[in-house]
Amino acid sequence: MEQCNISLIVFIGNRRKRFKSNRYDIIVKLYRKIKQEIPEAQLYFMDHRYPHGPEEIRPPKKNTYWCPYCAAYRKFKSWYKYRICEICLVSDNDFNVKKYNQLFSKRKEKSS
Ligand SMILES: [Zn+2]
Repeated sequence: MEQCNISLIVFIGNRRKRFKSNRYDIIVKLYRKIKQEIPEAQLYFMDHRYPHGPEEIRPPKKNTYWCPYCAAYRKFKSWYKYRICEICLVSDNDFNVKKYNQLFSKRKEKSS
């Protein structure tokens, strides 16, 4: 089975939908189509193959972390014992989220 590592996340009002594919061109086509048909939709790409590091380091705001898959600073909201990106839903338990937000040491201190 092929992995679907590219997502297009669409917000229309309060509704959220996620389209997945392993082909970038399909996602781009879909992006253009939705943009045209639903101008009020908010669209976000997420690429799980290549996590991105932050280009500029911003002072951390409360509940805001660098999301390597959205390639942007995002609000992370509480979800069970984790916090998850409000756009792509990746959790702060993800290796790359930890890596780019220096969360390794903090978690260790807490659990001891
Ligand atoms: Zn994200």
